[in-house]
Amino acid sequence: MGVTIGLAVASSKEVDEMASKREKLRMRLEAEKERLLTELSQTNIVERENLGYGNHMADDATEVFEQAKDLALRQNLERLLEQVEDALERFEMGTYGLCERCGKEIDPARLKALPYATLCLSCQQRRESR
Ligand SMILES: [Zn+2]
Repeated sequence: MGVTIGLAVASSKEVDEMASKREKLRMRLEAEKERLLTELSQTNIVERENLGYGNHMADDATEVFEQAKDLALRQNLERLLEQVEDALERFEMGTYGLCERCGKEIDPARLKALPYATLCLSCQQRRESR
């Protein structure tokens, strides 16, 4: 009897801890989303400025290079934002933290390092080794 109660208390405490850990991850994702949106809006401004100058010196190789760099940066940010939004969506659906490929739980340490990870470590490694 005493053991049963003890276990019940322990497991509900564990659930609470899990929930607060997830809440922290969700807050980190929300903050990351904010940051990415801010950075994206800033790169948009840079691009518009470059476009204006581009009319005057279209053959400037440095200018072209800078624009390509901006574009790569923006694509990178957009990709990140997509991953972050996906992760937030999975929170809504209650599938956050589960591997997209095998359905197993992703190692909490991995999620802490990479909150928007969609694959467990072994699935990720399998994909990268291809
Ligand atoms: Zn997996």
